[in-house]
Amino acid sequence: MGKVVGIDLGTTNSVVSVMEGGKPIVIANAESMRTTPSVVAFSKDGERLVGQMARRQAVLNPQNTFAGVKRYMGRKYGELSADSKRVPYTIRRGDNNEVRIQCPRLEKEFAPEEISSMILRKLAEEASRYLGQPVTGAVITVPAYFNDAQRQATRNAGRIAGLEVKRILNEPTAAALAYGLDQQYSQTVLVFDLGGGTFDVSILDVGDGVFEVRSTAGDTQLGGTNFDKKIVDWLADDFLAAEGVDLRRDRQSLQRLTEAAEKAKIELSGVNVTEINLPFITATADGPKHLETTLSRSQFEGLCGDLMSRLRGPLKQALTDAGLTPDQIDEVVLVGGGSRMPMVHDMVRSLIRRPPNQNVNPDEVVAGGAAIQAGILTQEVQDILLLDVTPLSLGLETIGGVMKKVIPRNTTIPVRRSDIFSTSENNQTMVEVHVLQGEREMAADNKALGRFKLMGIPPAPRGVPQVQVAFDIDANGILQVSAMDRTTGREQSLTIQGSATLSEEKVQQMIKDAEE
Ligand code: AMP
Repeated sequence: MGKVVGIDLGTTNSVVSVMEGGKPIVIANAESMRTTPSVVAFSKDGERLVGQMARRQAVLNPQNTFAGVKRYMGRKYGELSADSKRVPYTIRRGDNNEVRIQCPRLEKEFAPEEISSMILRKLAEEASRYLGQPVTGAVITVPAYFNDAQRQATRNAGRIAGLEVKRILNEPTAAALAYGLDQQYSQTVLVFDLGGGTFDVSILDVGDGVFEVRSTAGDTQLGGTNFDKKIVDWLADDFLAAEGVDLRRDRQSLQRLTEAAEKAKIELSGVNVTEINLPFITATADGPKHLETTLSRSQFEGLCGDLMSRLRGPLKQALTDAGLTPDQIDEVVLVGGGSRMPMVHDMVRSLIRRPPNQNVNPDEVVAGGAAIQAGILTQEVQDILLLDVTPLSLGLETIGGVMKKVIPRNTTIPVRRSDIFSTSENNQTMVEVHVLQGEREMAADNKALGRFKLMGIPPAPRGVPQVQVAFDIDANGILQVSAMDRTTGREQSLTIQGSATLSEEKVQQMIKDAEE
C-alpha cells in the first residue's frame, strides 16, 4: 500500500511532510531544502524544471517560468485584478473565460491546475524517495478562505499529479492541528496566516484532542507578493521619473525588480535599512543604466498602509464572528513567511494585546498539520476530532437578483441543507437554479459557482410542483448538489453551466497527458 503525505501547496513555497514516530516531519528535497519554491519552468531544451532550479533561471527565461500560479486556481480571467495579471509570463483569457498560461518554449498553454500538479508531483516524488515506497495519496492544504471553485481546482491538480486526494484541508486549521497536538490544556487559539499570496485568520477552540473552528475570515488575493509589488512600484516609479523608462514594461527587468523587491522586504524584517542594487537594469540612448538605492523599514511601512488595513479587516471579522473579544484569545499562532514582517507582528500584537507564540516554524507548521490529518485518515493518529467550518455563505439567486443564503458562513462541515423550489409559470417543466458563494446581498456581487437546470418537471399549475434541492458541503469544503421532485419522488437531473473549474473530461485528459 502506498503512503499518504501532507502537502502545503503554497503560492511561493511548498512543503511536504509525513508522520514518523507519531510526529510530523518535513521531508527535504533533492537540493536539501525543506521548502520547495512553487515555480515551474521549461528550459531551452524544453526540459521541465520544478522548484529551486526553476526559480534560479527565472531572470533569463521569464516567459517560460511560472510562479505564483496558486492565485489563478479556480478563478475566471475576468475576476483577476490588474495587479495579479502583471506577471513576467503571459496569461490569457480562454474561450470560457478561464485563465490560460502560455508557454512559448513548448508552444503550449497550460491550465493553472496543470502547473500546480507539476509541483505536487515533484513533492510526492521527493517523499517517495525518502520513504522508499510509493506515495499514492495526499492531504493538500488550501487557504481557509478558498471558495468551492478554488478547492475543486486544487483537488484536480492533485488528481492530475496522479495522487488520490484524501482531503482538502484549510491551512490555518492545519497549523492549529500541528500546534495543538501536544497542548495539554484547553485554549482558544487565533491563527494568523499570511503566505505568499493569500491571507487567512481562523479562531479555534483546542483541547482534549478536539479542534473546533469557531470562525474564519481572509482574503485570497492578499499576501507577501503584494508587499513585494509595493517595492517594485516604488522603484519603477522613481526610475521612470529619473530616466523616462518604465522598467515594468520589460519582462526581464520586471523579473529582476520583483526578485530584488522580495529580497529587500525580507531583509527589512531583520535590519532597518537595505540596499538595492540592480546593475545594467536597462539601456537608453545614453548607454547602460543601473538602479542603485536604499530603502528603510519606515519608508517600506509607509508604502504598505493600505495592505495593513486589508489585514485588519478579516482579523476583526473573525473575532466578531466567533463572538469573542481580543482578551478571550489565549494564544496567537503566526503562520506564513509574511507574518515575519515587524509591522505585521506589531499590528497583530496591538489588536490582540498579547505577544504571538514564537514556538512554531511559520514555514513548516501547515505541512505538519496536513501530515497529521493524513495520519488521522489512515488511522495512524487516533483520538483527534477536527470540526472545521465553511468560510463563505452558500446560497441561491432569487427574485430581483438577490442572494438567499442557504448555508451561512462559519457553519460546521460536513453539512447538508435543502430548499424547496417551484415554478413561476403554468406547465413550466424546467427551473434554473443559480448557486452562489459569498456574503454580499446582490447575487451579481458574489462568486457564481454554477447554474443548475432542474428538468422534467411534470406539467402543473405554477407554484404547485415542489422540487427539493439539497446542498452538501463535505469535509473538504466542496459542494455537491442534488435535487428531488417531491410530487413524483424522482431524483432530478442536474446540468452545471459556467463553473470556473475544469470539466471532468478535461481533467481525465490532463491525467493522461501527465502520465505520458
Ligand atoms: P509562505 O507562502 O508561507 O512560504 O510565505 C512566503 C512569503 O513570505 C513570501 O512572500 C516571502 O517573501 C515572505 N517571507 C518569507 N520570509 C520573510 C521575512 N523574513 N520577512 C518578510 N517576508 C518574508
